[in-house]
Amino acid sequence: MDQIAYVNGSFVPLSEAKVSVLDRGFLFADGIYEVAAVLDGKLIDNASHLARLERSVGEIALALPETTARIEEIQKELVKRNDLVNGMVYLEVTRGADKSRDFAFPRGVKPTLVMFTSAKDIVDAPSAKTGIHVITVPDIRWVRRDIKSVALLAQVLAKQAAAEAGAAEAWMIEDGKVTEGGSSSAFILTQDNVIVTRQNGSEILPGCTRKAVVKLAEEHQFRVEERPFSVDEALAAKEAFITSATVFVQAVVSIDGKKVADGKPGPIASRLREIYVDFARATAT
Ligand code: PLP
Repeated sequence: MDQIAYVNGSFVPLSEAKVSVLDRGFLFADGIYEVAAVLDGKLIDNASHLARLERSVGEIALALPETTARIEEIQKELVKRNDLVNGMVYLEVTRGADKSRDFAFPRGVKPTLVMFTSAKDIVDAPSAKTGIHVITVPDIRWVRRDIKSVALLAQVLAKQAAAEAGAAEAWMIEDGKVTEGGSSSAFILTQDNVIVTRQNGSEILPGCTRKAVVKLAEEHQFRVEERPFSVDEALAAKEAFITSATVFVQAVVSIDGKKVADGKPGPIASRLREIYVDFARATAT
């Protein structure tokens, strides 16, 4: 059965879900996206994703074509129409299609809003047990990484380099420090049992999962420090892990081919994963 997608007010088969070649998302990457996880047919931490969506569109002066309440209704409708149990809802809003191809914003053009779903068993993903390998690459992105823009070429190249090296993620490095993963936030657990992750700012995307995990870790009496860390520090750490909406909490077992600790997922990453899954189930909408 063809999946159902949403395009500008209509639910249509995915194979018929189309936008114009003049769409500014296509021509200029003039758009914002969000990805929310789905567990047991319910959205995970969606208020946080919609708040970040509002912030991102605000930063590029793009007016959402629907209220966030309506967007959530559409997300839920799409989950229902696709009988989605576990996976994610992708949504993208762009500045719309305009004939002129002017770089400056066109007047009177309605933004494009598209959504689709995909299935993934996030809780029982094989990598949750094995951990993942990570490589490092220079962070060549623009300076407003706090905006969840669809301009993802740097991350495409980073993650392709990772794939070619047999790794699942690339940690991006700037001024000798890890900024974040290609599509995830980066964490370590120091030898003193401090959870370290870079502080929010224009250098990284404010991860929704990062935010929830930091809060949950503190509630569970873990010490958390928000500051940059280097690859050497990560390799000397007890554990390393990543977070994102589509992996939750995922242990990192090697960096650039060098083992983190004994090269196995550590107990704290596993514990934080359980804590996050419990939180996800308890707060799903
Ligand atoms: N950092 C980057 C660059 C990302 O692309 C993502 C997710 O796609 C994240 C971090 C994790 O964010 P979230 O936890 O909101 O999925």
